[in-house]
Amino acid sequence: MRILVTGGAGYIGSHVVKALGEQGHDLLIYDNLSTGHDWAVLYGRLEVGELADTRRLDEVLQAFRPEAVLHFAASIQVEESVREPLRYYRNNVANSLNLLDAMERHDVRNLIYSSTAAVYGIPERMPVDESLPLNPINPYGASKVMMETVLRDIADARENFRYIALRYFNVAGADAGNRIGQAYADATHLITRALKTANGQYPKLSVFGTDYPTPDGTCIRDYIHVDDLADAHIRALNYLVETGKTEIMNCGYGHGFSVREVVDVAKKVTRIDFPVEETERRAGDPPELIADSSKLRRLTGWLPRHDDLEFIIRTAWDWELKYRSLLKGKV
Ligand code: UDP
Repeated sequence: MRILVTGGAGYIGSHVVKALGEQGHDLLIYDNLSTGHDWAVLYGRLEVGELADTRRLDEVLQAFRPEAVLHFAASIQVEESVREPLRYYRNNVANSLNLLDAMERHDVRNLIYSSTAAVYGIPERMPVDESLPLNPINPYGASKVMMETVLRDIADARENFRYIALRYFNVAGADAGNRIGQAYADATHLITRALKTANGQYPKLSVFGTDYPTPDGTCIRDYIHVDDLADAHIRALNYLVETGKTEIMNCGYGHGFSVREVVDVAKKVTRIDFPVEETERRAGDPPELIADSSKLRRLTGWLPRHDDLEFIIRTAWDWELKYRSLLKGKV
């Protein structure tokens, strides 16, 4: 298939591009390289461009004529979204509307949309299935809810437009072949921060809040390896094209780890007893998020291959060491 991948030079997008490329798809990656890198695009052709640039989008869609779009380009850091909401709504909502407009003009009918567990806010039961109400507690989650609403309404209005929204839980780890991984310098996610602390890039790791209503007082998350998430995209796309059915599916393993547990495994994998300090809660964090991913498994046959926190952290650590030495080599 001819597939346009927005944000395909970023962390998750580049792993999905790798998986799609291995299957022989014809790929065009549209990315502004704000957090992504050209070297992370292992397959297809990279067009550096903005989703705000509607003329450019038109040219790209006109020339490439994609049969499907995978839309990864977005801002994704919860705390930043609390501080800079307008930026999140502009990038995650306004820019996505530009893309949908262009898709409509060029009659592109299939979309895989990157959504998030943050749409649920503080869920009323665990694990979280797709039927639970959407009550985002931060602008990042709210921006994704807005786009899910827009997509639902477009699919209702246009008979030939269909999409799958994948609600990601906590994506982590790196390509087992160690070619790509998280490469955004200011990434604030727990595993990346823990490993960068082990690596000496930060003096200490902050544990944000130890008074949550969880067994050890720290937040619990469902960490999913990025290659398993990439496989979920391939399967979702196949499902969409074969059935023509719009669906929303959670992506996670169905069990979680606390911040303290992640820190312990990070220390074990790195063999470095890096400094940790307990601090106040971070704005916008729900205590627990665990996916019920039975829908994804049932409809697409998805089966996790890397459901192992040690493996997740080991691949992330291997990448961190390699990326650090690559950066040093350049200086
Ligand atoms: N966290 C932490 N220290 C950090 C980064 C994150 O204690 O330096 C906690 C955070 O408060 C949350 C969990 O780790 O409870 C996962 O946060 P992350 O930013 O990785 O993902 P999110 O769940 O916000 O998408």
